[in-house]
Amino acid sequence: MTVKERIEKLKEQINEALARAGRENESIIIVGVTKGIDIPRIIEGIENGINILGENRVQEAREKIPQITLPCQWHLIGHLQKNKVKYAVKLFKMIQSVDNEELAELINKKTPERMDILIEINTSGEPQKYGVSPDEAGKLVESILNLPNLRLLGLMTVGPYPVDEKKSRKAFALLRETRDRLEKEFGISLPILSMGMTEDFEYAILEGANMLRIGRGIYGERNY
Ligand SMILES: *Cc1c(COP(=O)(O)O)cnc(C)c1O
Repeated sequence: MTVKERIEKLKEQINEALARAGRENESIIIVGVTKGIDIPRIIEGIENGINILGENRVQEAREKIPQITLPCQWHLIGHLQKNKVKYAVKLFKMIQSVDNEELAELINKKTPERMDILIEINTSGEPQKYGVSPDEAGKLVESILNLPNLRLLGLMTVGPYPVDEKKSRKAFALLRETRDRLEKEFGISLPILSMGMTEDFEYAILEGANMLRIGRGIYGERNY
């Protein structure tokens, strides 16, 4: 299958899931996850409308982003080490993986212009996962709201693996509930719920996702 064909199929599946969720008239932002994907496939994606792109690693992004000259924007979706912040703030429009106060402060200090961010939440309780726990998220929101160069737009999570309907939906519902609670507690709007990947995006849509991060479902298998 070509990238173009995969994108068409993905959009059909997204529309079916939206219909099942009773969300026919809503739109969903697709982030094309390009880790391990070569430049020609990324370009074919952009030519077919996937122009918001997600990378996991700053080093790979530093090599790749300058090679793409078509208009697009980049999001960091993987863990950010503090010594890489100075590069990340120049490469990315959004950092989806903010999960601690020190990191937020460093991004606030180094970013040349206001940085869009999401807070990454660990919704599955899996210890190997990054993300702040739902219980500690309020504390992090409070600090971020005091950092003038950060624009907090919502929450992100990585669903449990292996994918299982019940467990996946429970984790995604927890992200939505955490968002609703934080909006009330702080009187703010957190419009973005970034959740759902190739194997679990249908469950994420049923639980309210409005930003999906799709790699293999768009580009095919990764080169690593
Ligand atoms: C790799 C990755 C994705 C996309 O994975 P696919 O299964 O290829 O869709 C999404 N989000 C994060 C954080 C990832 O690391």
